[in-house]
Amino acid sequence: MAKPAVSERTNRPVPWADADGIIDAPEGSVNIAYEAVDRHVLHGNGAERALLWLGKEGERRDFTYADLADASARFANVLTAHGLKPGDGVFSLMGRVPELYFAALGTLKAGLVFTPLFSAFGPEPIRTRMEIGDAAVLVTTAQLYKRKIAAWRDQIPTLRLILIVGDEAPEGCVAFGPAMAGASAEFETRRTGPDDPALVHFTSGTTGKPKGVVHVHNAVLYHAFSGRVALDLTPGTIYWCTADPGWVTGTCYGIVSPLVNRVTMIVDEAEFDLDRWYATVQREKVEVWYSAPTAIRMMMRAGAAAAAPYDFSSLRFLASVGEPLNPEAVIWSAQVFGQPFHDNWWQTETGGIMIANCPGDEVKPGSMGKAMPGIEAGIVERSGDTLRQLDDGEVGELVLRPGWPSMMRAYLHEQARYNKCFVDDWYLSGDLAMRDADGYFWFVGRADDLIKTSGHLVGPFEVESALIEHPAVAEAGVIGIPDETAGEIVKAYVTLNPDFTPDEALERDIRGHARKKLGPAVAPREVVFRNTLPKTRSGKIMRRLLKARELGLPEGDISTLETDET
Ligand code: ATP
Ligand code: MG
Repeated sequence: MAKPAVSERTNRPVPWADADGIIDAPEGSVNIAYEAVDRHVLHGNGAERALLWLGKEGERRDFTYADLADASARFANVLTAHGLKPGDGVFSLMGRVPELYFAALGTLKAGLVFTPLFSAFGPEPIRTRMEIGDAAVLVTTAQLYKRKIAAWRDQIPTLRLILIVGDEAPEGCVAFGPAMAGASAEFETRRTGPDDPALVHFTSGTTGKPKGVVHVHNAVLYHAFSGRVALDLTPGTIYWCTADPGWVTGTCYGIVSPLVNRVTMIVDEAEFDLDRWYATVQREKVEVWYSAPTAIRMMMRAGAAAAAPYDFSSLRFLASVGEPLNPEAVIWSAQVFGQPFHDNWWQTETGGIMIANCPGDEVKPGSMGKAMPGIEAGIVERSGDTLRQLDDGEVGELVLRPGWPSMMRAYLHEQARYNKCFVDDWYLSGDLAMRDADGYFWFVGRADDLIKTSGHLVGPFEVESALIEHPAVAEAGVIGIPDETAGEIVKAYVTLNPDFTPDEALERDIRGHARKKLGPAVAPREVVFRNTLPKTRSGKIMRRLLKARELGLPEGDISTLETDET
């Protein structure tokens, strides 16, 4: 295991090297499922509630740590009984049902590699991901199987076992319920090594073709640590991460980190619904809530009045990830919930939170926060194979010094693309940002999304944040379009709050507002009204798609596209 380094920020040993005894795997081995589940049972905490599952139709089911230990052991035995071996790929394709969590933990116990897929994917994105990941097992539902898998299952040569949630299965598949009931609840968790692959997550596909990112068992050290430091997870905390495990947040901070930290985690099967969400926070006395800007903007759009009937006094810490969190959303949430959503930044590749507004930090609305303890982050200018470190206040690419345990180890079958991420011993994030004199990082935009207009560099986030301060604007996506004189001009697509009608006067008013906030060089020349913005299923605005359509270019990989109405 890595020798403890000293954190620049706290000047103490880096806690992920296990200062607090959170990790206690047998010497030389580390297994995520052991740390997340088995260890709690061994230490006499098996009766504590691990998972509260809320079904779409109002059902509630509680699972203790002992229940999860039992179910994951059974699942591990099912895999072994079918001849599957450590390293084989297990995919899940289902909504947020308890079986998904049993399968994830059981796969890790047995030393196989788990990949959750978002259940709303169409057949083609499912198939390509299963091919890239050499899927040996798929766990899904009868309905999803029939609609999305049956037609091509025989064409995936590696696929050996399909488990169907429930008591019955179509021909050629195995029913999950009876298989679990017939399996032993005793399983000796495999002593995986720190560098053994554990999870493969596909990126959101915001900027192009999604990458299959490999994470190893040692990542659990960082999940344990960052959950405590950045999300305030302690034993018994009632915690709700709203992300789907089909995305990295929903696994790392929706399964691993909370369980390792022995919290009670809430899993809601349903999709976003404002009243349901508010009622859940109130009824279950949620203490820590981890969500995303797209949901927070929907809350804002509904207004403070929609939140007023609910009691949010249980909330102790709110955090957000996935996209830039507009300053407006930080200020609004502080007013409505008694404390703001705390922005944090990371990527599928980093496997864990890298930059954060941690509990106790002073929040600067619009900033992603400071580098996590032990994480070295920089801002650089890249020219060819060399990097130049930039000063505070300058905009450049956000880079990280590799070495923390949850960092990716590969892009599946894309070695060259992986190698390109590293220059001079730094990992290049592909995001542009600025660091201020206090060490806070400010997101500017994806490197690909930067707009160059009349000699100015414009980050879409700045323009979008100014636009949503206009009372009519709910969400905004901003792109640059080629222009002979200016190089590029700024163009904005916006959705409106209820009670506003799109017309020319409103368009002029929004442009005027932006000009006042940003100045004429940076303010959008044109504002287009849309019913929705094209977004990935993980809730990110797909600016590249707005741009491709604007310019009549090919749309590229849109396998993760969700909403899209003009
Ligand atoms: P792809 O790499 O396939 O284009 P993606 O980068 O959207 O997709 P993810 O790994 O899910 O896939 O998302 C990470 C990216 O999300 C970051 O690189 C950054 O651009 C954005 N992001 C995440 N958190 C924040 C944040 N707090 N502020 C601004 N941007 C964020
Ligand atoms: Mg990315």
